[in-house]
Amino acid sequence: TEFEQFLDENGNLSFNEDATLVDYVERNVRDQADTLAYRYIDYSRERDGEAQDLTWAQFGKRLRAVAARLQQVTEHGDRVAILAPQSLEYVIGFFAALYASNIAVPLFSPDEPGHTDRLHAVLDDCKPTAILTSTKSAEAVRDFFADKPAKERPRVIAVDAVPDSVGSTWVAPVAGKDHNKDTVAYLQYTSGSTRVPAGVEITYLAVAANVLQIYDTIEIDLNSRGVTWLPMFHDMGLLTVILPALGGRYITIMSPQAFVRRPGRWIKELAAASDGAGTFAAAPNFAFEHAAARGLPKEGEELDLSNVIGLINGSEPVTVSSMKKFNDAFGPYGLPKTAIKPCYGMAEATLFVSATARENEAKVIYVDREDLNAGHLTVVDDDAPNAVPQVSCGQVAMSQWATIVDPETGAERADGDVGEIWLHGLNIGKGYWNKDDETEATFHNKLVTPLESGSHAEGTDVDADWMATGDYGVWLDNELYITGRVKDLVIVDGRNHYPQDLEFSAQESSTALRPGFIAAFSVPANELPSVVFDNANSGLAYDADDAAEQLVVVAERGVGKRVAPQEVADTVRAAIAQRHGVMVRDVLLVPAGSIPRTSSGKIARRAAKGAYVDGTLRGGYQQTAFPDAPD
Ligand code: ATP
Ligand code: MG
Repeated sequence: TEFEQFLDENGNLSFNEDATLVDYVERNVRDQADTLAYRYIDYSRERDGEAQDLTWAQFGKRLRAVAARLQQVTEHGDRVAILAPQSLEYVIGFFAALYASNIAVPLFSPDEPGHTDRLHAVLDDCKPTAILTSTKSAEAVRDFFADKPAKERPRVIAVDAVPDSVGSTWVAPVAGKDHNKDTVAYLQYTSGSTRVPAGVEITYLAVAANVLQIYDTIEIDLNSRGVTWLPMFHDMGLLTVILPALGGRYITIMSPQAFVRRPGRWIKELAAASDGAGTFAAAPNFAFEHAAARGLPKEGEELDLSNVIGLINGSEPVTVSSMKKFNDAFGPYGLPKTAIKPCYGMAEATLFVSATARENEAKVIYVDREDLNAGHLTVVDDDAPNAVPQVSCGQVAMSQWATIVDPETGAERADGDVGEIWLHGLNIGKGYWNKDDETEATFHNKLVTPLESGSHAEGTDVDADWMATGDYGVWLDNELYITGRVKDLVIVDGRNHYPQDLEFSAQESSTALRPGFIAAFSVPANELPSVVFDNANSGLAYDADDAAEQLVVVAERGVGKRVAPQEVADTVRAAIAQRHGVMVRDVLLVPAGSIPRTSSGKIARRAAKGAYVDGTLRGGYQQTAFPDAPD
């Protein structure tokens, strides 16, 4: 295949040369000058959208110009943040920073509502010398820095305002001299689900390896093209637009808003076209549900999805119901049953870790809840009273390893046993920008005792570095299951409960709760608000010395529902007591939009807990910031 040049004799990824993304793009600019590289469909004016196309030659011309402009005002290794709206300018800005030997920092435009604090924190962390944006957003960007003293303000450059002619002064970085495989190409900030986002240092090697791992998993070939509406500051959105640098055909881009308003746009672009291309995309779980509910073609409209090769479903827990709804909705239009690929990934691994193999349907098993909470997978019938669904995230990508480890001792756990997921591979980031202690703790772990037989570390060096993911998981029958985040685990009376399992039970018990907008967490008893002790149904009396963790459920109210809070609370309490054997001490109903979420839409339970304990959540808190719960 076309990727053989990157494989060694054992079929593992190997990069002998110092070539980087810049060299790969340059090769395309040279060898495929007139081939389409990116298409942006703008739906802001026309309902059916207006396409803007960039060939590799045009792309290369823009990259030279913007990189040359950057070289006038930055030094090698300076950070260059991209604060542009979803657009071709965004893609140009990202690659231009690499072309200028800078470290790119893909972020978002400040006119994106609700995440200003996150943006300030991240910019204070990476201290960019220059900001790339578009003419449309330049004013918002300048306003954003207006409070800073003049000499601390980064230079703001509108990508589309730089004339092509500037490109004549571009000095191409020399592979092996100006940069090599171990040079940091960009900082991928984490979503901030459990902390202030941390900037993962992604090297040229890591990103190239991860791109090839994705190709290999979904078998992207020269005739495949992708469609994305994911924001490009999110690792999944960014990697999708990096893919064509190393192979495959062009990527069609639209804005997240265009998708949310009419998810059928995404579906339509995935459909078979006269080009005969196999198509792929990546999206979080909620998007599948949204597309199934609102993305069907109109009566009499044609839709052929038989060419879809892979729809990566990752970044948050994958639910059985969203997959079912999507398959039910689009199966009649030829969508292969194997199309949805549950997948596991994270910023620390560049993006991609594991997925269901191309030829397989998504695999779901049902396991016993009590055993699961105690750390072991016992498969049961789907209708067993204690059955909890677990969606497999498939197999680890080529040249990547995942072990299940007891983080205290560094001992590998046996198949079927839950432990922390540790990763090793060329795609793992170098560390966290500016955070030596966290880097050491996360990226430099040793697997002290691998399993004597059936070790998932086979093929790695004994003294290899392992990256601790902060996620619990388990291997069973060669399938990787993610059970939940270490930091979010609810521990009450010495027993473990996974928050998503508790939240799902709450959601099922009462239609008064807004599905998907529920947070379960534990709070020390003496930090619970007085209303809890005033409520006889909580079953708890105040004791200043009682710091035992107690379960709290916060839920947004479903739309248009007028219900007595006490009644809902009692229903939720009863359901959770019955199913999980744990008492919910407080069920707090809040207005829609109250539960803190990340800029990529994930529930931030620790931030929710912070806002609950300090009382702001009860006082009608609305999210304006990223979650910033102290450890
Ligand atoms: P932060 O690290 O800042 O708290 P984050 O972990 O959400 O935020 P990302 O790197 O964007 O930041 O997300 C990766 C995480 O998302 C994983 O570590 C895991 O917790 C979760 N995740 C990703 N894919 C899945 C999946 N298929 N099932 C369950 N959880 C998943
Ligand atoms: Mg994380």
